Amino acid sequence: MRSLDSIKGIGPKTIKLLDKLGINDTNSLLTYYPYRFDVIAKSNIEALEQDDHVITDGIVENIPTVFFFSKKLNKMTFRLNTGDNIYNIVIFNRAFMKSNLKIGTKVIIIGKYDKKHSSIVASDIKLGVLPPRPMIEPIYHVTNGISSNQLHKIILNYLNDNIEVEEYIPDYLVDRYKLINKKDSILEIHQPSNKINLNKALNYLKYEELFLFMLKMNYLKQTRDNIDGLKRNVEYAKVEEFINTLPFKLTDDQDKCVHNIYDDLMSTKRMNRLVQGDVGSGKTIVAIITLYINYLSHYQGVLMAPTEILAIQHYNNLTNLFKNTNIKVELLTGKLKLSEKKKIYKRLIDNEIDILIGTHALFSEDVIYNNLGLVITDEQHRFGVNQRSSLKNKGITPDILYLSATPIPRTYAISLYGDMDLSSIHTMPSGRKDIITILKKDEEIKDVLDLMYQELKKKHQIYVVAPLIEKSENSDMENVYVLKEKMDKAFGKICKTAILHGKMSAKEKDEVMNQYKNNEISILISTTVIEVGVDVKNATMMVIFDSYRFGLSQLHQLRGRVGRNDLQSYCVLISSKETERLNILTKTNDGFKVSEEDFKLRGSGDLFGTRQSGDMHFNLADIKQDFNILLRAKEDSAEILNSQEFVNNGKYSNLKILLEKSMNIS
Ligand code: ADP
Ligand code: MG
Repeated sequence: MRSLDSIKGIGPKTIKLLDKLGINDTNSLLTYYPYRFDVIAKSNIEALEQDDHVITDGIVENIPTVFFFSKKLNKMTFRLNTGDNIYNIVIFNRAFMKSNLKIGTKVIIIGKYDKKHSSIVASDIKLGVLPPRPMIEPIYHVTNGISSNQLHKIILNYLNDNIEVEEYIPDYLVDRYKLINKKDSILEIHQPSNKINLNKALNYLKYEELFLFMLKMNYLKQTRDNIDGLKRNVEYAKVEEFINTLPFKLTDDQDKCVHNIYDDLMSTKRMNRLVQGDVGSGKTIVAIITLYINYLSHYQGVLMAPTEILAIQHYNNLTNLFKNTNIKVELLTGKLKLSEKKKIYKRLIDNEIDILIGTHALFSEDVIYNNLGLVITDEQHRFGVNQRSSLKNKGITPDILYLSATPIPRTYAISLYGDMDLSSIHTMPSGRKDIITILKKDEEIKDVLDLMYQELKKKHQIYVVAPLIEKSENSDMENVYVLKEKMDKAFGKICKTAILHGKMSAKEKDEVMNQYKNNEISILISTTVIEVGVDVKNATMMVIFDSYRFGLSQLHQLRGRVGRNDLQSYCVLISSKETERLNILTKTNDGFKVSEEDFKLRGSGDLFGTRQSGDMHFNLADIKQDFNILLRAKEDSAEILNSQEFVNNGKYSNLKILLEKSMNIS
């Protein structure tokens, strides 16, 4: 593969900027697709309303006048003759262009139409005329230092070098769906010729994306089906004995899940099960019972969490519940000292650890198990396929359990998680009251403080969430440090507050979390690090600043941090923007409904939690909109996997190589 810096327009500075966008080789450059397409066509200005977007061209009628407000702010005005009419053009900070704008110069103007004054407030001005036919301009996500335009040029420079692209979709499928070829699709998406061709290109690329995804899923399923389960011999009575020592009675759904899992473990097939349940429905205990069954059958087990805070919480939880047993539980996170890690590695190999809890550190090369029998992944939507399988393949072939709090409508779940069996926990533990969700505008902060005061008086605890850690130059969003000052000013006399965010050391986080759990801190001010999994029963209020910044599903996850016992709990969403969208949360506490609404509003993007991580991040495809393509891709990929050609390593060797690379199976 060619290196990026051999492409025209890419120097060391650009390399760094591209890296920020996740572009680190020519392949990722090619597949860095536009997120939007703008149609550039001359507007019929007479038909426009006040403030409508407008594009036009014309000739400069008079010498522009420039007014300097300050060194950094200037305003230029001139008259433009479009052939149909004359408009006043106003544009800021383009004084440097004045010398290019002579009477009679042809220019293109993009901006907002000010009908009242028969003028256009331009956001962009270019020399030249509009093309006779509408043009489609691809728009890319970019970062400070590089514009969509510059990135577009770089991509075109590369495309014009007569590149080769690897095709994965077999010819007969290309024929079946009358797709155009891959190279044309890529050229078209980066330089659309017209709507029809662009749609053809999108069809190819979406289909390819979903086809490869489904191929992976189906392949995972096949590999699993071909592996025998581990031998286990545990009487259910023993499991029940342990369940009876728990501080509460299992809900019916939890009980059903445990039975499903027990049956899986005792069967001759390898377990690969997903437990789906809304936030707060009690998935952890199901995981713990599973670890216990695995222990009774003399295998080691691991429980993996997406964050350190959560791993520590699980560790404390397990040590507590297993305190009357001989089970040896350990915690492994990336932040441990090397010497501490080494001790754990040694004890693992020597079978002196029964259950290991941790974060990504569990994947590290040095972690070798003596007889790993079970892998549980909490909040599985946060991990990718690759990571999951690399852990799976350490040691012998363990049984697999995933926990997920992101409720996906069943039809989608079945298709997407085609390689897994599914159990759902629908009911909440009894005695829970519905969380009351309240929407407040920025200027109603006094009401919010009043509500907080009511809870603090009852010795209850509060979470406060802000989108930022520190003040940021180009944003006026709330940040953790400033909020801490504000909270101390309001409540410093009656209670203690503390900060928690991802940049703190593990030890600091651990200390703060422990103090919060022990009710030594009343208000915890944090970023979304507390989004997943944290469990403090006495916390009854969640206050989220600038809540419009978050997706509905994410807000629902945050809200799930409260309402964890029989106390009445509250969630206060503060925002003056997007109140209609946020209002949905005041109407329902049901995660399935919230994700359905999210689905309707934003497509599948936010459905699976954070956009960047997890398996379900598609570059172009949208699971809801393109669900039919997905279903076809699912069937087609299964057809290929089952074909003689694939099995015999013939025609589809490139697919096989791709699969094995991405599965990390050696
Ligand atoms: P999640 O499904 O979001 O991971 P957790 O497992 O953290 O939820 O459980 C939420 C809270 O409910 C915990 O405090 C847990 O101890 C409690 N809990 C779980 N199951 C039950 C039950 N059957 N009865 C009462 N409380 C329960
Ligand atoms: Mg959980």
